[in-house]
Amino acid sequence: MLVAVSGFPEVLRVGDLEIAVSVSDRRKSVRLTIERDASVTAVAPPQVSRSELIKMVEAKRSWLYGKLAERRELGEARPAREYVAGEGFPYLGRSYRLRIVEPGSEVRLIRGRMELGEDGGAQELVRWYCRVGKPWLKHRIRPWASRMGAEVTGLRVQPLGYRWGSCSRDGRVNIHWATMQLPPTLIDYVLVHELAHLQRRDHNPDFWRLVERAMPGYQDRRERLRRLGPDLWLPDEGR
Ligand SMILES: [Zn+2]
Repeated sequence: MLVAVSGFPEVLRVGDLEIAVSVSDRRKSVRLTIERDASVTAVAPPQVSRSELIKMVEAKRSWLYGKLAERRELGEARPAREYVAGEGFPYLGRSYRLRIVEPGSEVRLIRGRMELGEDGGAQELVRWYCRVGKPWLKHRIRPWASRMGAEVTGLRVQPLGYRWGSCSRDGRVNIHWATMQLPPTLIDYVLVHELAHLQRRDHNPDFWRLVERAMPGYQDRRERLRRLGPDLWLPDEGR
């Protein structure tokens, strides 16, 4: 049976997932996308039937749930910043107040304050998190990698949209710079999660067994991460 093109986009329900479906004759296969607001859309070629679409979504369910969970962890609502004296910025789980110093100064953490040049803003702060994050994370990931028998061939700290981390098959790990705002025990969870992905791409039971073996009781950290995510500082331009 063919999907009736009229009436699209329509909402397709598969379990507790709601997917906005639209049809495009320019597509040869179905494309599933998770939007910025964590809604799911599907663009399907006209010849795909509703039941085929449902089957496809079901096959991709664990992938979708994993992506949605990661996106919620780095959720949307967060206070806007003005980069003025006294504003707090988290680093390794503690908040540091901004001290505004002369223009052109490098961002630095000194005597319990975060120093920012008068002409600085989000960009300079993001760059600082990336700069301090790289050596810190490289050092931190080493014992976890050896415990899990994973070989890390490179580590980068950068904006990653809504994800805490990502990795590639050849052992490169990317960590979102905003991770450096978390307490170290939660950063460990992000690292273990990515190291487990070096062996298992999906969030299937085998994947979670790897995480559990390396970090017994990881569920608690995962839950704390989910709750903390929205409190972190994440400017639009630094995602
Ligand atoms: Zn994951």
